[in-house]
Amino acid sequence: MDRAIESFIAEKTVEHCGSEYQDLKLRRSGVGCINETWEIYGDNLASLFLKLGRATAHDMYLREMEGLSLLSQAQKIKIPKAYAVESNDDCALLIMEFIPLQPLRVASEVALGEGLAELHSLTSETFGLANDNYIGRSLQPNELCDDWWDFYCNQRLGVQLAMAADNGMRGELQERLKTLIEHIPQFFKFHQPKASLLHGDLWNGNVAADLSGTPVIFDPAVYYGDAETDIAMSQMFQPLGNAVYDVYYKHFPSQPGHDLRRHLYDLYHWLNHFNLFGVTYLGQVERSLDALLLKML
Ligand code: ADP
Repeated sequence: MDRAIESFIAEKTVEHCGSEYQDLKLRRSGVGCINETWEIYGDNLASLFLKLGRATAHDMYLREMEGLSLLSQAQKIKIPKAYAVESNDDCALLIMEFIPLQPLRVASEVALGEGLAELHSLTSETFGLANDNYIGRSLQPNELCDDWWDFYCNQRLGVQLAMAADNGMRGELQERLKTLIEHIPQFFKFHQPKASLLHGDLWNGNVAADLSGTPVIFDPAVYYGDAETDIAMSQMFQPLGNAVYDVYYKHFPSQPGHDLRRHLYDLYHWLNHFNLFGVTYLGQVERSLDALLLKML
């Protein structure tokens, strides 16, 4: 690592976490999709987890810190405590609690199901959040809104569709996505969810357990929205264990039509994956769209 960046990390860690971090060491830890991630460690030091990015990542880290703090209202899931965000001309840092992680076992899955139900029971009057934030590296607007479908069509699908156009999406696919968005408010008007506190990026890679088995969730894109969006995302790649959903639905019963809305909620993330990672994800966008339009038109 660059010497100047290393001494900036040391200076800021001492400033926020105490003088005992004077002799900190750094080693790579975790494999993130977006950031360089490091463990700050040393003799008799509580390890810290560090996200390191370009100076422009400052706002992304601030929003992540805010999101972690909101999620920590849920008592049954462990959320890393974020200590500081700092930047200079060369880099930006997010310093947080280091939690040794392990895969979820069944007992942790049960606790996670309860914890997610608790999280989703924390509600707001309006959809969105006080600040915009990020989903991966993409800006995620959160302007407060009274109507879920207005919010989801404009600030989720509409925004990603505009980004997709900038990234070269054209023609029939673009037109079909526009048609979908036009039909959503009417077609889904019977589903009027509460504005639940959401993790917002709850794929299985952002879920684990600590060494005592308590479930841990991290790397959020928090806002208030339909709880089904978190559950849909948790099933997009490798679903979480069955116990998570069995317990979750006992506390937070599933709503009629959630199987179809799942495609709608996946679509936001597939579009975002197209925008972040490229054409490999076009097939997924098309499959979700086909499943929806088949039922809706
Ligand atoms: P990115 O923002 O780049 O996607 P993540 O937040 O997903 O990075 O972190 C990358 C990996 O680091 C995670 O998959 C997880 O294994 C590990 N990790 C995340 N947060 C912590 C933490 N607080 N303590 C220890 N390991 C963590």
